[in-house]
Amino acid sequence: MRIDAHMHINFRNISSRNIIDYLDKHKYDCCWLMTREDIHPENGNLESLSIENVYETYLRYPERIVPMYAPDPRCDDAPEKLLAWCSRGVKGCAELKTTVNGRLGKLKKLLDAAHHVKMPVVLHMENRPEVLEGTRSDSTLDIMLLKLMQTSRFKGLPKKIINLISEVYEPLAQWKKRRTVFPGYKLDFASLRIVLKEYPMIKFIAHGPLFWRHISTDGEKNTCIRQEGTIKKEGPACSFLRHYPNLYADISAPSGFYALNRDHAFSRRFLSEFSHKLLFGTDNYPMGHEDLLKSLRLGPKAMRRLMGTNAQQILMQ
Ligand SMILES: [Zn+2]
Repeated sequence: MRIDAHMHINFRNISSRNIIDYLDKHKYDCCWLMTREDIHPENGNLESLSIENVYETYLRYPERIVPMYAPDPRCDDAPEKLLAWCSRGVKGCAELKTTVNGRLGKLKKLLDAAHHVKMPVVLHMENRPEVLEGTRSDSTLDIMLLKLMQTSRFKGLPKKIINLISEVYEPLAQWKKRRTVFPGYKLDFASLRIVLKEYPMIKFIAHGPLFWRHISTDGEKNTCIRQEGTIKKEGPACSFLRHYPNLYADISAPSGFYALNRDHAFSRRFLSEFSHKLLFGTDNYPMGHEDLLKSLRLGPKAMRRLMGTNAQQILMQ
């Protein structure tokens, strides 16, 4: 079975109308279709992708769509929402992409619910350490400015300049006060270790820039998604996959692609060692993830696992 194990609708040119064309074109039997839910989207997160849309698409194509839903853990009723959608056929908690650190109680309640119904959890791990927490503003200009400040273009702006501007522009002064720096935005490796140990029965599937740049020890410095250069020493992404039986990862999005494209000899070893723990997926990015895997000549057994068997088995618990 061939499965794209990380997809969305209403994102990057894929909608409920053309998703089956996409699956047919690439001969994928089905895909994992995921939501994104963020109750504070102004925090710089991407637009929410709703469970209603995912579910509607699933009802239309039940053979081709595996519906998944990750409620925002900051909603008090997130566990109940997950359980309710599970009883309607949702198969996984995915993708979890909010500014909640793994050590926070709210995530725990949601994970308790996922554990209860034996659902896998797809975790987005992100680079950006700075986020705005609970910012509320009525002025469009303020919101625009806050959004602008969170774009990568401004990230490297020297503190001195930010201080200077904030003296004359009040919203920026507020922004400075309100921004919080998590030890890792969304989920860092220290928090990942905690949840992996606390929930040994949940299958966690990591994904995203923070996870993939740590394929190498230069991941601390190499914060760019478009990673380049040979890997001299493996990073925590490798040791975590080796140590924790309940950790998996999907290779989707630019982060997964570039991590595997930077050093083909390393990738061949990495994909062979973890061929039972990695999932093919695209996250709607037509970058040639499958072509990259093919070019590495991994052997038919490993390829079958990566391209679908692993995803299939994760859901059969
Ligand atoms: Zn995604």
